[in-house]
Amino acid sequence: MNAQKLSERLAKVASYVPTGAVVADIGSDHAYLPCYLVHEGIAKRAVAGEVVKGPYESAVKQVRQEGLTDKVTVRLADGLAAVQPTDGVDTVTIAGMGGPLIADILTKNPESLTRVTRLILQPNIHAKAVRQWAIKNGFALLEEAILEEDSKIYEVLVLQRGDMQLNEAELLFGPHLLQAKEAPFRKKWLRELAQWQKILQSTANVEQTPMIVAKRADIQQKIALAEEVLQ
Ligand code: SAM
Repeated sequence: MNAQKLSERLAKVASYVPTGAVVADIGSDHAYLPCYLVHEGIAKRAVAGEVVKGPYESAVKQVRQEGLTDKVTVRLADGLAAVQPTDGVDTVTIAGMGGPLIADILTKNPESLTRVTRLILQPNIHAKAVRQWAIKNGFALLEEAILEEDSKIYEVLVLQRGDMQLNEAELLFGPHLLQAKEAPFRKKWLRELAQWQKILQSTANVEQTPMIVAKRADIQQKIALAEEVLQ
């Protein structure tokens, strides 16, 4: 992977960026995504935000190598603190982190989202946390995608402003993904189902503390939902 040839996962994220967007990519590591978006003429400008010094330095180096310093600004910052009002950012991408961390990042600096109309989020795990954040914060799912790359299954959630209501199954599986039930979707949830069944078995004969009881009840509810969905 490099700034010219993205991984399938990042290419899917890129495919939802509107032409002419001003993008902030948070947790940008090598800045491959913002460089690609500007190179391809999809984004007008971009900010690459990174909180860790090593990856930040890689991003700075990459942007220099690509000759894109006038269009891609790299900032060492925690989450959306990388975005300044004068940047005019209208699209935010956050990829390759857990859903709860993505939701935390979006919650921490709400002022940075004032002018943002689209969020493209790729949680590696617990996408439900992102859907819950969206409902609470006036964003609705425009699209969802699921793909398999190198034996890992990834979800991409595309949000725009709007109200959304989701039931328990839609929160967990994603309303669009649930409708389509594509092969990677089935594979992901069959894997999860097997994992949950294992946990249930391994906690059946241990002391039933309130924490264990609550955990088992949560897993049983998810198993029931998954079995219904995968029928
Ligand atoms: N977005 C790239 C991708 O999808 O390939 C990189 C993913 S990498 C696994 C996650 C990156 O997010 C790391 O470089 C990490 O330092 C950065 N990160 C984690 N928390 C962050 C935060 N609060 N603000 C900015 N960057 C963060």
